[in-house]
Amino acid sequence: MTLTHNTQVLVVGSGAAGICAALAAARNGAETTLIEYNGFLGGISSTLPWLGFHDRDYRLLVKGLPLEIVKRLHKAGGASDFVFDPKCASTVSIDTHAWKIQAVEMCEEAGVRIMLHSQMVETLREGDRIAGVIVENKSGRVEVRADITIDCSGDGDVAARGDVAWEKGRTTDGLVQAPTLVFKLGGVDRPAFIAGCKDPANNYREWIRPYPELWKKMMKRIDSMDAIICGGFAPLMEKARAAGDLDIPQTRVVGVKTHRPDEFLVVMTRVLGLDPTNAQSLSLAYARIYQQIPQIVGFFQKYVPGFAGASLREIAPMLGVRESRRIMGDYVMSADDLIEGRVFDDAVSMGGYHIDIHRPAGTWVDSRNVQAYTIPLRSLIARDVDSLLMAGKCLSATHEAVASTRVVPICMGQGQAAGTAAALAVARGVSVRQTPISAIQDALASQGAEIGRSLEEPNWEIIEELGQLPLVEEESTGDRDAASSTQLAWVR
Ligand SMILES: Cc1cc2nc3c(=O)[nH]c(=O)nc-3n(C[C@H](O)[C@H](O)[C@H](O)COP(=O)(O)OP(=O)(O)OC[C@H]3O[C@@H](n4cnc5c(N)ncnc54)[C@H](O)[C@@H]3O)c2cc1C
Repeated sequence: MTLTHNTQVLVVGSGAAGICAALAAARNGAETTLIEYNGFLGGISSTLPWLGFHDRDYRLLVKGLPLEIVKRLHKAGGASDFVFDPKCASTVSIDTHAWKIQAVEMCEEAGVRIMLHSQMVETLREGDRIAGVIVENKSGRVEVRADITIDCSGDGDVAARGDVAWEKGRTTDGLVQAPTLVFKLGGVDRPAFIAGCKDPANNYREWIRPYPELWKKMMKRIDSMDAIICGGFAPLMEKARAAGDLDIPQTRVVGVKTHRPDEFLVVMTRVLGLDPTNAQSLSLAYARIYQQIPQIVGFFQKYVPGFAGASLREIAPMLGVRESRRIMGDYVMSADDLIEGRVFDDAVSMGGYHIDIHRPAGTWVDSRNVQAYTIPLRSLIARDVDSLLMAGKCLSATHEAVASTRVVPICMGQGQAAGTAAALAVARGVSVRQTPISAIQDALASQGAEIGRSLEEPNWEIIEELGQLPLVEEESTGDRDAASSTQLAWVR
């Protein structure tokens, strides 16, 4: 027997985007249901620090609901303050469990109906209209009918099952960014680690090292920094590889010294060739990645300053898939939109994080700095159908553009925009396309979201204190290098 549930706004997937979409829809008066197949809310945002609230001019670009969330988390002792950084602009180190708890609290306060351990398995398509989804859970099959559905599954599952256009991977070969299963080390000696970062020979932060002024400024602050982002230590990894202690498709230490004094988050496991929409490929990726964890722990203990007494504390509950299906919308955002800092007439949120591509067929990253850009409502509306919106990783954008829009705060901002637009449309009894854009923008602005109307000047004080990387940096290397060419690196 199939059970039935009716709702006005249905959000599929409760990651950074889905939580904000559901909160915004409910707060704007819509009956809202949030479906999630895990037993917790937060998706990947519950496993990582949050980057990208600011742009390279250290201006706060993502405000509204995401800012409210991070402030509440900080006030409750579950997050650091913003820590500024010349490459990532800013980071907030969060207590992942505190975020999971707060996410449920906020949804309950807003009246969102949460369905956990519920997997969306089919899309209800009636002509050109997406009318909801079928969910499987312990109760059986549930038909969830909705006026508007928002796909925040990260995989574009609603779109794919509803024959809505999507793309996956880069245009040349369809490969997506390398995924990572994040894990945490405890028992780190913070002063010894910082001393290791200060040793120029270790090159702990590759982006900054070529710029002596930036490096000097960073060294001045590093002892007092709540969170320290790492992307480097290549010489130590080369040494370990040469000694036969390391065989993973990664050549840099990627991770974050979190705000907890003895804790470090490792973002280095990886495989190449994953198809995130194929269960067999995902299972093989997990198998390969679990084998990498003991090696990496051993590498830290033996080679990285401050980690001799460290041990494995926690493995994230889900594989970090950086990129999957991107749903094609009324507008497809491109890298140029970000690099040029485009201002769209139908702007509903903003971003300024750099394009950060974890190489699909190599090691390390391809990176390109961007200017503060807006995200148009049209990129949140699925093409050629009615009643389907999307936010987060499955935004309508190219492989390159989504490599910037995918960070947590920017996904949250898109979620707030999609949820607000959906609630306003439902209240008027029309589609989102028929809802005046000015009404959506006014609602967002009055609820604190930055859509380009109250953008501050560059933060000259912080620019002076930290410096800035040039807009165009030297290219990094790592495509099809030796470390990424071994049989074990690939899952296909
Ligand atoms: C390894 C890694 C490191 C990263 N590092 C950072 C970082 O340091 N800082 C930062 O800001 N960003 C970082 N990012 C990017 C960022 O974390 C993610 O892109 C962002 O959190 C994605 O949010 P989302 O809501 O779009 O998707 P997700 O977090 O993937 O959420 C999707 C949710 O939908 C659920 N779901 C999927 N399919 C279904 C279905 N059929 N039925 C029901 N539920 C479903 C999933 O269980 C999940 O909870 C990183 C990403 C990765 C992978």
